[in-house]
Amino acid sequence: MATPPLKVADIAEEYEFVDHQSCSKCSAKGTFIVLGQSLVKIGNTPHDVLHVRCSSCGNEQDFSFDVTIVFAQYDEMLGLKDAKK
Ligand SMILES: [Zn+2]
Repeated sequence: MATPPLKVADIAEEYEFVDHQSCSKCSAKGTFIVLGQSLVKIGNTPHDVLHVRCSSCGNEQDFSFDVTIVFAQYDEMLGLKDAKK
């Protein structure tokens, strides 16, 4: 199931969004734990991908976000994060 990426203005919005999603497997809501976060470029658009796991059934899935706005704001911060890896 492909969901068009949500445009966020803040990283916190991503976590808030994930918090309100229901598990595609067990339908539990707000059970997702973020396991990882990665920045990918789709075309010329920066996307943040959150890899999450449902704490109820163990189902893992990804949520993508369009972080064009965040990227513009926190360019420096994300650059530092990238260099640390
Ligand atoms: Zn689940």
